[in-house]
Formats: sequence, C-alpha cells, structure tokens
Amino acid sequence: MNTPAHTPAHRPADSPVEGPAHAPVIRLQDVSRTYTDGPPALDGVSLTVRAGEAVAVLGPSGSGKSTLLSLIAGLDRPDTGTVTVDGVRVDRLGEAGAARYRRTKVGMVFQFFHLLDDLSVADNIALPAQLAGTARQEARRRAAELMENLGIARHARAHPTRLSGGERQRVAVARALMNRPALLLADEPTGALDSASGEDVQTLLRALNADGQTLVVVTHDVALARACTRRTLHLVDGRIASDTATPAVAGAVR
Ligand code: ADP
Repeated sequence: MNTPAHTPAHRPADSPVEGPAHAPVIRLQDVSRTYTDGPPALDGVSLTVRAGEAVAVLGPSGSGKSTLLSLIAGLDRPDTGTVTVDGVRVDRLGEAGAARYRRTKVGMVFQFFHLLDDLSVADNIALPAQLAGTARQEARRRAAELMENLGIARHARAHPTRLSGGERQRVAVARALMNRPALLLADEPTGALDSASGEDVQTLLRALNADGQTLVVVTHDVALARACTRRTLHLVDGRIASDTATPAVAGAVR
C-alpha cells in the first residue's frame, strides 16, 4: 500500500473524474425516505460517486447521514427514487439479495468495530469470505495478506478484546476489505478512538483510497474528513446543502 509521494492534479468537486476507470460506483436518483412521523429523513437526494473517489458526508445530528448510509448499504429502502451501487439496483433487492449484495459489494466499518469477541482476529477477518462461500484455504490466504498489509499479523490468533481500539478498527477494516468490495463505507470510524489511534485509522483510510478503494465516510469529525477524503457533502434537513472539494489539511501531502 503506497501513499502517493506527490499531490495529484486537483479536481474541483463540480467536475467529477471521468473515463472507464472512474465509472459510477454509487448513483442515487431523487431519493426520498420518510419514517412514519415527521419530515423526510432524506428529501430528493441525487448523487454520483465514481470509482476511486473518497467522499465525506457531514451534517448535524438528524440531517439524514445514517439514513443515506443505510440506503447505500441496502439496509433500508427509499420510498421513492433509485439507488444503484456497482451496477446493482439496491432499492429493488429482496432480503436475500440485499444480504448477498452486502457481502459482496460493500465493506462496512463502524464506530464500535462490531467484531465477534469469541473469534480470533484471523477468523473475524475471514468470516465474510466464508459466508460468501469462499473456500476455507483461500479465505485464510486472503486474511493473512490483509493482516500483513494492515500491520496486524502478529495478532492473528488473539481475540479482539486483547487489542487496543486502534488495532480493533484495523481488524474491522481488514474484515470489510475481505471480499474486495467496490465500496468501503465507514460510519464514524474514529469516533471511539483516542486521537493517536484516530490518526492511525485516518492514515489507513487515506492509503486505501490512494490505492484505488472507493470510500464514503460518514462523520461529525471535520479533521477526519480533511485527512482522508477529497470531496465533502453537507447534509441539512435531508438534502445535500453543499458538495465541494474537501479543504486540504495545511501542509499535508494529499
Ligand atoms: P443523522 O445520521 O444525520 O443523525 P438520521 O438519518 O439518523 O440522521 O436521521 C434523520 C431523521 O430521521 C431524524 O429526524 C431522525 O429522527 C429520523 N429517523 C432516523 N431513523 C429513524 C427511525 N428508524 N424511525 C423514525 N425516525 C427515524
């Protein structure tokens, strides 16, 4: 995994990267979602995220960030509009199709890791491949490769409770990458970490994106957005209030 040594050509947020290598990974068209009571949680959202982009979703509590993530992850369905991810019409999937979609197309990282404490680190990481029907040996090989790349190989046999928060989040990222997802979704991935571990996870996410991983990060943390994304969406009252280039961190190589 290499972080680029120089700054790539700057791209204004309103001129998305084009070309076959930058096909849309996420496309939302006029998506709305209203829960039983109250105003729409999402209100006519249209959005395209292309392969290789890193996008932060910011906004106050209640602005619709989790709802947006749930729709992209196939955990919920819109009332109106379409959600397409890597060519799959996610809004049309039934339960089994949505489960398969989540196993194969998206990797998810959560604030509180959601690791299985009864399993070793290696088994946690390999689990999504086993659920997807990958042969055990191939799953182990891929898990070993990810642990090596993410610097957690020495913890392979440990259980997650023995690890620090930052290490647990590395395990969760490895698990999310297990099935080579088109899209990595992270929901407040540094929210439960001290600042040093948080920076470590920021660096990891930035490096994964530099290697081509499409990334969407939902966060309250402007520093996280600045450290590992290039495009920032601000949600307000279920609408995209702005869609701009993420301001660079002063002095940082991006
Ligand atoms: P955020 O993640 O930005 O805090 P959410 O997507 O969680 O925002 O919430 C958007 C709006 O939808 C809020 O008004 C919230 O109260 C409402 N909401 C979210 N989930 C549910 C739910 N399961 N049932 C009812 N209302 C919900």
